Order: sequence, then C-alpha cells, then structure tokens
Amino acid sequence: MLNIVLFGPPGAGKGTQAARLIDKYELVHLSTGDILRAEIKAESQLGKEAKNFMEKGELVPDSVVIGMIETKIDSNLSAKGFIFDGFPRTTAQALALDTMLTKKHLSITLMLALEVDDDELIKRLLLRGKDSGRADDQDQKIIENRIHVYNKETAPVIDFYDNQNKFKAVTGVGSIDEIFGRLCNAIDAVK
Ligand code: ADP
Repeated sequence: MLNIVLFGPPGAGKGTQAARLIDKYELVHLSTGDILRAEIKAESQLGKEAKNFMEKGELVPDSVVIGMIETKIDSNLSAKGFIFDGFPRTTAQALALDTMLTKKHLSITLMLALEVDDDELIKRLLLRGKDSGRADDQDQKIIENRIHVYNKETAPVIDFYDNQNKFKAVTGVGSIDEIFGRLCNAIDAVK
C-alpha cells in the first residue's frame, strides 16, 4: 500500500492536491475535516460534539478522530493506499495511527508537508470563506486561532515522521499544477 500523510497548515492546499493525488495513484481519501463536517450535517451525536470545537478553531478531541479514522481504514482494506488529510494533527494522533497501522500490518510510506507562509494562508482562507460557506473560514480571529493551534499542536508531528525519515517538505506556493508536480516527484522517488 502507498500510505501518504498530506500535511500542512489550514489553507495550504491539502484538499485540492489530495483530490488530484487520489486520482493519479488510485488512493482512498481520508479527510478528518470532511468526515467531521458530514457528521455535523447529519446531526449525529459525534457531529454535535465536534461542532463546538470546530466553530472556535480548536481541535476535536483525539479519541473522537482516532476512532473515526479506524472505521474508515477498516472499510477500505483492499485499497491501493490512503491519503490522510488533516490527520494526524497531534503527536498523540500520529502515535495512535502508527499503532493502529502496525496492528493491520500496514505503515505510513511518506509525509508530504506543504509549506505556505501565514499571510498567504490568511488570504486564501478568507477567500475560500466567501464561497465555501464554511463559518470557520469567514472570521479572521478564528483563522488566526487555527494557525496558532497548528503551530503549537500540529507542527510537532513533523518531528515524529522526520525521526522515521519519512518527512518531505514541498513548497505550497505556485500554480496547482506546479505543486502537484512537486508532490508526484516526491512520491515517485519512494514508490
Ligand atoms: P483546515 O485544514 O482548512 O483547517 P479541516 O477541514 O482539515 O480544515 O479541519 C477543520 C476543523 O475540523 C479543524 O479546525 C478542527 O476543529 C477539526 N479537525 C479536523 N481534523 C482534525 C483532527 N485530526 N484532530 C482534531 N480536530 C480536527
């Protein structure tokens, strides 16, 4: 299996690039943000729990997202691989993912981290907020909190994969095609 962690701050372009990567490499897309938004829409118990955190730009508790991911992996065990998008977002989530995958005789192949500076991120997210309808993209304070939470709780996940020699930084500025090309080169180098 080709299992990729697509990493980067909010607004880095993970969703856009994930859509292209799943097409090219025939992977299953696991986006915790998308799954959580679907749960909110369905007004499930999980969705109700997650909503309060997401509206503030805080992280949903680890136990909630870890359980969600395991369910999705188990229902796609014959896939060619997975793209993890927006997960793991804490070192605890990264550890739990490793343990979970090892149990299933699987592992992460590569972590690709999209790098974009904060000013550009804020610009992109406010623009997305105008037509996506996502409340967390419409308020500069909430956006800044998400970037703050990313720097404090999520960025350390880089060390986790760097220590396993699986971390690769990719410049997330340029055209969508250019960035996609960089990601493909990094994947093809380890495949
Ligand atoms: P973005 O990367 O653009 O911030 P996402 O769609 O990945 O957006 O996530 C939106 C929100 O969902 C996050 O701000 C957070 O509240 C919640 N969330 C998504 N993934 C996770 C996760 N792995 N752990 C905790 N919370 C998460």
